[in-house]
Amino acid sequence: MVTPSTTSGSAALFRRAHSVTPGGVNSPVRAFNAVGGTPRFIESARGALLRDVDGNEYVDLVCSWGPMLLGHAHPAVQEAVVAAVARGTSYGTPTRPEVELAEEIVARTPVDKVRFVSSGTEATMSAIRLARGFTGRDLVVKFAGCYHGHVDSLLAAAGSGLATFAVPGTPGVPAASTAATLVLPFNDRAAVEQAFAEHGAGIACLVTEASPGNMGVVPPLPGFNEFLAETCRRHGALFVSDEVMTGFRVSRSGQWGLDGAREGWRPDLVTFGKVMGGGFPAAAFGGRADVMGMLSPEGPVYQAGTLSGNPVATTAGLVTLQHATDEVYAQLDRAAGIVGAAADKALTDAGVPHLVQAGGNMFSVFLFDESAGDVTAVTDFAGASAQNLDRYKAFFHSMLDQGVYLPPSAFEAWFLSSAHDDAVLDRVLEALPAAARAAAA
Ligand code: PLP
Repeated sequence: MVTPSTTSGSAALFRRAHSVTPGGVNSPVRAFNAVGGTPRFIESARGALLRDVDGNEYVDLVCSWGPMLLGHAHPAVQEAVVAAVARGTSYGTPTRPEVELAEEIVARTPVDKVRFVSSGTEATMSAIRLARGFTGRDLVVKFAGCYHGHVDSLLAAAGSGLATFAVPGTPGVPAASTAATLVLPFNDRAAVEQAFAEHGAGIACLVTEASPGNMGVVPPLPGFNEFLAETCRRHGALFVSDEVMTGFRVSRSGQWGLDGAREGWRPDLVTFGKVMGGGFPAAAFGGRADVMGMLSPEGPVYQAGTLSGNPVATTAGLVTLQHATDEVYAQLDRAAGIVGAAADKALTDAGVPHLVQAGGNMFSVFLFDESAGDVTAVTDFAGASAQNLDRYKAFFHSMLDQGVYLPPSAFEAWFLSSAHDDAVLDRVLEALPAAARAAAA
């Protein structure tokens, strides 16, 4: 493997980028602010490997933040995309690939109908508008630490009391946009009961990551999603399950396939993105036929998009899903188990208090101070925020220096692909002990 030597090419591009783009990046986490150092400018990727502009090669444990389920430049996806591009790239009309991708999604998940959009943000924003239009109510419940894209009403921080309304989570969001949002601690049934007891008649929907991966990996406690679905049903609110990250990644049908199908709950609306776009900007929201029937042009709730259902993006998504077989998911589960166990062992050997936590084949590593004692579970954002972030910085940079690209933030999931074969995994396993020692220092 080429181990990172120079990063001068990335550094030069980062300087140029700074003069024309805020922070030099088009999405904040890419700037490495949480870990420091020079963000790598990637020039190409194949399978499980990234190559930067300086020729350094990295095993990719980010996979474009989830989408690259089959690895980079998968031959079948590439071939289909090239053929699609040759037929033209956007017509602003209905097309065959969007019908076929919608059929594939409906066949795999609990939704009756889907509408395509171009990003996960649009998917959750549209699902909330639809829930409000369907119920005639305004209030939205979300959980602290769950990310649903940069939707104004969901960039919200908890108010002063448990069931009080939220305040803007960023400048630029008007207080009016979050005044109808309630932010609760994840996995906390009592908080949900209280919010619905006080505001149930006004709640349009509760939106949750089906299994959160945006505060590190913090899976729902057994039965929690079922409890949410049932609570919403009792109060006439819609249950919106955000599967933008988990959909088609943790199983053929996402998190619902892991627990919903078993427990018998069904969301009213689901949002999708990432894997279903095959590396292109495509996302979707879908759900019950009667709810989706409220959407324009069938119903009165307006929603639209110039590039929605783009033929190249939906082709990439369709071929990706066609190759996302049971064998692929079995391989991903196994690979996640191997890397998670090796990280756990390396950190134990180095004496670093830690927790490796998995939700299906997504997992992340929480590193703590000695004073944290033996942490056996992180169940909410407060628990995730107890991490020692300096330890993650040291861990991250040691892995990077050894040619393994981890998420440049301690609050993110690690992602694998079906291209992460044993030879690739060995590179990760070899790097972990030194990184664990760096985290201990
Ligand atoms: N929902 C979840 C669970 C996500 O993880 C993300 C992005 O990471 C989004 C929504 C927003 O998707 P996008 O970045 O495509 O707008």
